[in-house]
Amino acid sequence: MQDQAHSQPGAVQAFSGRNSAVSGESGEKVVYSICEHCFWRCGIAAHVRDGKVYKITGSEHHPLSQGKLCPRGTGGIGQLYDPDRLAHPLIRETRGGKQYYRKATWDEAVGVVAEKLYKTSQTYGPGSIAMLHHGYGVSFFKKMLSEIGVNKIAKPSYDLCCGPARQAAVLTYGYPSDTPEGFDMMNSKYMIFFGTHFGENMHNTAVQEISEGIRRGAKIVVFDPRFSTLAGKADHWLPIKPATDIAMMQGLMHVLISEEIYDKAFVEAHTVGFGELWESVREMTPEKVSAITDIPADAIRTVAREYAFHAPAAFVHSGRRTNWYGDALQRLRAIHILNALVGNFKMPGGVVAFEKFPLVQPPAAHEHPAYEKEVYSKYPFFPNDEPSNTIASHEIVQQAISGEVKALVIYGVNLPETMTLGRKAAIEALEKVDFMVAIDVLPAEVTGYADVVLPECTYLERYDDLDNGRAFRTPFVALRQPAVPPMYESKPGNQIAKMITDKWGLHGVFAPTVEAGLNKKLGLIGSSLEEIKKKGVLVMPATDLYRKPGEALNLKTPSGKIELASEQLKTGGFDAVPTYTAHPEPPAGFYRMLTGRKPMLTFGRTANNRFLGDLATAKENEVWVNEQIAGKHNITNGEYVHLKNQDGVISQFPVKVKVTQRIRPDAVYMVHGFGHTSAKLTWAYKRGASHNQLITRTEIDPAMGAVGFQNNFVTFIKEA
Ligand code: SF4
Repeated sequence: MQDQAHSQPGAVQAFSGRNSAVSGESGEKVVYSICEHCFWRCGIAAHVRDGKVYKITGSEHHPLSQGKLCPRGTGGIGQLYDPDRLAHPLIRETRGGKQYYRKATWDEAVGVVAEKLYKTSQTYGPGSIAMLHHGYGVSFFKKMLSEIGVNKIAKPSYDLCCGPARQAAVLTYGYPSDTPEGFDMMNSKYMIFFGTHFGENMHNTAVQEISEGIRRGAKIVVFDPRFSTLAGKADHWLPIKPATDIAMMQGLMHVLISEEIYDKAFVEAHTVGFGELWESVREMTPEKVSAITDIPADAIRTVAREYAFHAPAAFVHSGRRTNWYGDALQRLRAIHILNALVGNFKMPGGVVAFEKFPLVQPPAAHEHPAYEKEVYSKYPFFPNDEPSNTIASHEIVQQAISGEVKALVIYGVNLPETMTLGRKAAIEALEKVDFMVAIDVLPAEVTGYADVVLPECTYLERYDDLDNGRAFRTPFVALRQPAVPPMYESKPGNQIAKMITDKWGLHGVFAPTVEAGLNKKLGLIGSSLEEIKKKGVLVMPATDLYRKPGEALNLKTPSGKIELASEQLKTGGFDAVPTYTAHPEPPAGFYRMLTGRKPMLTFGRTANNRFLGDLATAKENEVWVNEQIAGKHNITNGEYVHLKNQDGVISQFPVKVKVTQRIRPDAVYMVHGFGHTSAKLTWAYKRGASHNQLITRTEIDPAMGAVGFQNNFVTFIKEA
């Protein structure tokens, strides 16, 4: 259906006829704004000459960039001037039994969207409509949908990335861990990482801080089945057997407690559940853990002792993309407990809680009971305080397949290649719903399933809502503002949402202009749009990150203390303390499929960016195979193979083999986000193999709904 839709003559016509709509403005200027290439949202300086952005650098004013950007951030021009961009609204039509897209006017396209959403809501109730989103430009659409009572909203990044760390922190410390995570890396002396790929998965400020920490002499420990870029910086690389992290964490706890090298005074004063924790790790001796994890017992003792020696300027990092085997909440709880045991909370070089500037939010003009209150997820420890994430994204996919969700609004999410329940389930959901609107910049695969495609302009051409309620060492409020006008017929999200609410006859929902709305908000903190535009950010006075001797922690857990054993989990029917359980082993001749990122091409937004892609060392993904295993299967370095998973699914495109000693023999590794099937993504099309296509098994965390997908295994099919 998708290929057919994109291959019809009408579609070609619809995507053609582009010319630059950038104004003829001359001269040179720098516009301070916010990067959109990942959730970190660094401050950028867009350099504009003759009405065109010619360079993007890191804003020297913004706490998250500190004058620098990661490669993706500097390559944003590749998205702005991508010749494949969606140029005008499209409507799917069927003619002569064939489907194609035709160019539509904005008035016609938003009219169809407004009518379909309204009718669906009236006929089946607001719960029959759901939105999937990525990117904080979604706030306008969230507000738009709330006007018809719709608040079933999911961000896949919760399911696949930050959800377990967030909720584990809520259960252990009483507050969510957030972006950026609270680790004082620059001042740390000992940092432990489990499968975290700094340097491959770029987070600008975190990479700056870890680099500074290493420069100052910090020791790095990496538990990872693969010798990653970060492992290359490590004092200890420990190639742990995949799926055994919790056992290792229990072993480290065992050593800390049995050798009495944990911070006794801190644990007694500030934690509950120590006795229960000790009982759960008493039997997890280094020898027993060694048999499970393949890491020598002596190495386990060494790491635990060094960790205790350097504490409190030491931590175990929670990482990103943490959902692996369906027990991620407990794995992240174990990390938080390891931190608590050495008393590093709010200590230099340890765990810190960045104090945020309160959200700048005017009182709602009118009440919407469904808005910001209802949680739709069935998982007991799903967040109840995130209005833009009221349900897990895989629940929306399942509800679309079952028919409960009948209309989808998809904002900036390329669902067929997003790790929710794998490609097959995503496509089934997209084909099942009665109506779907995709709001996007590029003709990603998901747009080929849409009934209406609305082209949003890029982040360099629009205002978004304020980026507020955030902090990194210092609280700040930041602004996204246009560096150049929207190209083609694309429009900013706020205008699109306003056009739809206007079609509903709700004319007062949004301010007459986005500028007026932003100015009003900023007035609440004694500032103005004019003021924030100058540097793109308002930086508040720095807050004290470290605790003072004897200071009460005032934590918002039920006990008011750090909960090593969680009564909340126990009451909910889950283990109060993290406990290792074994996960499925690969069938004979198959290997566990591990995944990660490339620094240049990380998200859907960068997938087709040729400025970045042409810079990358490898312009496709590769499958890493241990040299012993390559020999066994008679495959050689550089050869192309297809991958077949345990359920018989074969990768649509072949992938290049990288034969290496840098991965354990029981696993293979491939970067996510390649193997695109949309021929409209002319750079990304057919490069490498899709990791998402090979996900057919998932393990969902029963406590908080994160999806684990590393119980998928693959073998090799040689090219004929
Ligand atoms: Fe942009 Fe990189 Fe910062 Fe992410 S980390 S916001 S991609 S500069």
